Amino acid sequence: ERVYRVTASAVGRGTGLFVLAFKDQSEARRIDRMRADFIANASHELRTPLASIAGFVETLRGPARNDPNARDQFLQIMQNQTGRMARLIDDLLSLSRLEMKPYLKPGVRVDLRQTVDAVIASLGPLAGETGVVVERDFGDGSFEVHGDRDELFQVFQNLLENACKYGQSGGRVQVTMRRVGQGSEAELEVTVRDFGPGIPEEHIPRVTERFYRVDVETSRAQKGTGLGLSIVKHILTRHGARLSIRSKLGEGSAFTVHFPIA
Ligand code: ADP
Repeated sequence: ERVYRVTASAVGRGTGLFVLAFKDQSEARRIDRMRADFIANASHELRTPLASIAGFVETLRGPARNDPNARDQFLQIMQNQTGRMARLIDDLLSLSRLEMKPYLKPGVRVDLRQTVDAVIASLGPLAGETGVVVERDFGDGSFEVHGDRDELFQVFQNLLENACKYGQSGGRVQVTMRRVGQGSEAELEVTVRDFGPGIPEEHIPRVTERFYRVDVETSRAQKGTGLGLSIVKHILTRHGARLSIRSKLGEGSAFTVHFPIA
């Protein structure tokens, strides 16, 4: 569906001739609609835990006032819900920061080895909680790209956290780094692979959409906002890089970041 704005202007005086100009508004409309959808989704995602907290506060002030067991249980739920809201707000802030500065500052060299190692080191508690062992296999040579260190840290943090959370049953996560291709086709590839349940094929193209979560028990049971991979995609686009996803049910998933070597 395309939307045009049409303006008519007279040619000269009393000529009876008009020029009609058609301006394609479809893209602007599409962006407006996306923004409205986004706000609606974000509000809904924040409202759900908030409603739950409000409900428990009411119960604690009323029927459960003198029941210490119920009180502990409800406080625990309320704490989980505030955690969920905090994660969502952090992700929303990351997205809005990315949108406020749509272009990268040029010229900063980032060593991907150091970045990924720093992410692995920061995973300590999550790796401990899930019992996942992270294996690294970095090829020889330079793995430097131009970009923003914090943003690239966030890319690999999101990918590795997902691999540990969703791929937990596989027991290990592999990170590999290599150079592939020649000349203008040359790329640096960083792959984060897990051996968990995998992603059903029809969901693979959609997991990078905002708020999209695959509705299988394993993923619903995990803490998340559905924004992690959309942030990854956003950051990679700014870096001229892209994400590819391969996954097989029962075997696991591989998320590969491709950086052009220019
Ligand atoms: P979040 O993890 O906050 O839900 P993401 O955008 O990072 O959001 O991921 C979107 C969805 O993609 C997840 O909810 C999960 O269903 C699926 N997913 C992501 N990574 C994996 C993985 N390694 N294995 C299986 N499913 C995954």
